[in-house]
Amino acid sequence: MIKFLDLQRINQRHEAEFTEALRGVLDSGRYIRGRQLAAFEEEFAAYCGVPHAIGTGNGLDALTLILRAFMEQGRLKPGDEVLLPANTYIASILAVSACGLIPVPVEPDPLSFNIDPERLEAAITARTRALMAVHLYGRLADMDRLAVFAAERELLLIEDAAQAHGACDAQGHRAGSFGHAAAFSFYPGKNLGALGDGGAVITPDEELARIVRALGNYGSEKKYLHEMKGVNSRLDEMQAALLRVKLRCLDADNERRREIAGRYLREISHPEIMLPHWDGGKNHVFHLFVVRHPERKKLAAFLSEKGIETAVHYPVPPHKQGAYKEWRQHAYPLTEAIHREVLSLPLHPALHEDEVRHIIASLNQFP
Ligand SMILES: *Cc1c(COP(=O)(O)O)cnc(C)c1O
Repeated sequence: MIKFLDLQRINQRHEAEFTEALRGVLDSGRYIRGRQLAAFEEEFAAYCGVPHAIGTGNGLDALTLILRAFMEQGRLKPGDEVLLPANTYIASILAVSACGLIPVPVEPDPLSFNIDPERLEAAITARTRALMAVHLYGRLADMDRLAVFAAERELLLIEDAAQAHGACDAQGHRAGSFGHAAAFSFYPGKNLGALGDGGAVITPDEELARIVRALGNYGSEKKYLHEMKGVNSRLDEMQAALLRVKLRCLDADNERRREIAGRYLREISHPEIMLPHWDGGKNHVFHLFVVRHPERKKLAAFLSEKGIETAVHYPVPPHKQGAYKEWRQHAYPLTEAIHREVLSLPLHPALHEDEVRHIIASLNQFP
């Protein structure tokens, strides 16, 4: 069986360096907020081309802490509306709700799967204060247009870059460097994945960075002095040490992902299988390679018989989830169609050539 995501194989490539890194943490006797975290934050910020990075417990916390920091600054208040894609992983939306802000879903552009800039205007109200872009499946949202729109409307621009570590535009600007702040997840399956939970906030804003850091540490900057009602959400030394090892391979891993995606796009040829759009640039890091088919269940079953595991990202849209019963009556037809038809193929940097060939051949054999 070709696994959808072979994390064991991906991480075994780093066994020697991981062992050394973990030994260093063990011997340091410091397991929270030590030198590994400081070094990772510096290296990750530099990689993204942004001055500040703050490690967090996970990606959802990173998003939530950004919004909470804006509230501490008085730039957002409960009841303010945040525009975001209807077609996203629910975490983007949960972060907004968790802060007492109102998420306002906007339909995607069906070719990029990302929020459609054309539809933003119609979603604006007197209470709109922020726009959250999500780089879904690893493809940069249309940040030029979103940034112009946000600037014209004086909206805060936040990026959920949890699926897009390292993606960059034609000028080399990385995911996470376009807005006021961005959130990353280092969940094991992400392009930069830890061996456990982890996340980060990056921002060009020094004050925001200071507030996010304090909020994630019980609202405290000075030990036992609490200026804000914070939480405990930190990236630990072991994960930071492992992530430093993997960050050095991120560009090469993303390049390998693009190479496999290029082959899928050139060699998979089937009248009913719709392939993702990509112009060949570095704006896509193929966290996921998502095809569409009107009968994806049949396609998944066929591939499974061929020994190929697939996955669905995602089966139920946020507005149809029990968590958002208040949206039951909302209709987002593009989002709903995407959720009915999408199927994710195995694509990761440790996939072997013969597996790539077998996946391509199998799709082309689908009746
Ligand atoms: C994974 C993910 C998150 C949440 O990250 P966690 O580390 O799992 O909390 C948020 N948004 C998107 C788009 C994601 O893919």
